Amino acid sequence: MDLHHSPEDDAFRAEARSWLAAHVPRAPLPSLETREGFAAHRAWEAELAADRWSAVSWPTRYGGRDADLVRWLAFEEEYWSAGAPGRVSQNGISLLAPTLLDHGTEEQRARILPPMARGETVWAQAWSEPEAGSDLAALRSRAVRTAGGWLLTGQKTWSSRAAFADRAFGVFRSDPAAARPHDGLTYLMFCLSAPGVTVRPVGRLDGKPAFAEIFLDEVFVPDEDVIGEPGQGWRIAMSATGNERGLTLRSPGRFLAAAERLVRQWQAAGSPEGALRDRVADAVIGARAYQLFTWEAAARYAAGGRLGAESSLNKVFWSEYDIALHETALDLLGGEGEFADTEWAEGHVFALAGPIYAGTNEIQRDIVAEKLLGLPKGRR
Ligand SMILES: Cc1cc2nc3c(=O)[nH]c(=O)nc-3n(C[C@H](O)[C@H](O)[C@H](O)COP(=O)(O)OP(=O)(O)OC[C@H]3O[C@@H](n4cnc5c(N)ncnc54)[C@H](O)[C@@H]3O)c2cc1C
Repeated sequence: MDLHHSPEDDAFRAEARSWLAAHVPRAPLPSLETREGFAAHRAWEAELAADRWSAVSWPTRYGGRDADLVRWLAFEEEYWSAGAPGRVSQNGISLLAPTLLDHGTEEQRARILPPMARGETVWAQAWSEPEAGSDLAALRSRAVRTAGGWLLTGQKTWSSRAAFADRAFGVFRSDPAAARPHDGLTYLMFCLSAPGVTVRPVGRLDGKPAFAEIFLDEVFVPDEDVIGEPGQGWRIAMSATGNERGLTLRSPGRFLAAAERLVRQWQAAGSPEGALRDRVADAVIGARAYQLFTWEAAARYAAGGRLGAESSLNKVFWSEYDIALHETALDLLGGEGEFADTEWAEGHVFALAGPIYAGTNEIQRDIVAEKLLGLPKGRR
């Protein structure tokens, strides 16, 4: 692996660092799981976009900087180390945008990507249903053909930030008679404020209201909001899951910054010796190991390799790492740490969900066993 970067790569990193030093809000924004915090994070997306920092890996014509994976990783390291806010546009930028770049039409890209970059349109992912999470192909929400488009009916659930988002993307059953459950699905985008849509918050442990379920009752979607060909929804959706589980959802930059914050927390607690000190050291080693693993994968990808099923390895690693990191921070803070409204406490609640969202770790381990290790198929 060659970890020497070109002078242009270094200049890109330096430009990002100085922009962030000048623009990152001094005080943390309120939680993006609340209405007030959602609005503040939206405004931050607009500020990033004004200087083309909100979606650096997109082509410049849509508001990006054409950054390759190596530069994107450098940007993420600078972003999180500057203490910049969480990204309210993440679903759109890391899931829908790559799908549109690969499978959308030019008209869709030109219409949808620039307002997404500016935070004017925040997207929710509407894939999961009450009976279709791990077994996503079992989904039952349907899309029925009508003049000029489709009518959507059914229920989606566990949709992050849907309570305040503007639009959603998801997969719907358009041909119930198709031979296999994976066939006859169509990938569609819809407005969360359209007639027939009801969005109802799902209670979280901390009471913050952005997580939601979505009910659809004959919601009209025009043909221009179908991604790819009708009936090809499964293939298109699967091309996006690698992004979600792999590098783009949890970049190592985020964990490096959190591990540094943990070290400061440990120092503030009087640098206690013993097990806690070892757990802090493990957190720093884990973040560095993940960073090196990711740089290696990026170098391989840049040389024409594929990431494929390895994104499942990443997913298991970062989700378990995140829990250990937050538990160490809370143990350092002492008994009340878990209940105070701190970044660590909110992060802990979210980290607990890491082994579930983006595909549960049981399923990821099955993928690793079968596709990377060549072990026999598990029992289904
Ligand atoms: C915080 C959070 C945010 C989320 N955000 C979104 C979002 O924005 N959009 C969205 O569409 N969805 C979202 N989800 C939903 C998430 O993707 C699903 O919860 C997940 O895919 C699991 O599906 P399920 O909840 O139906 O559980 P199930 O599939 O019912 O699984 C229950 C348990 O059984 C295990 N299991 C199931 N099948 C197998 C098998 N074949 N082999 C071994 N074990 C198995 C699972 O691993 C799990 O432990 C979110 C979930 C959470 C918790």
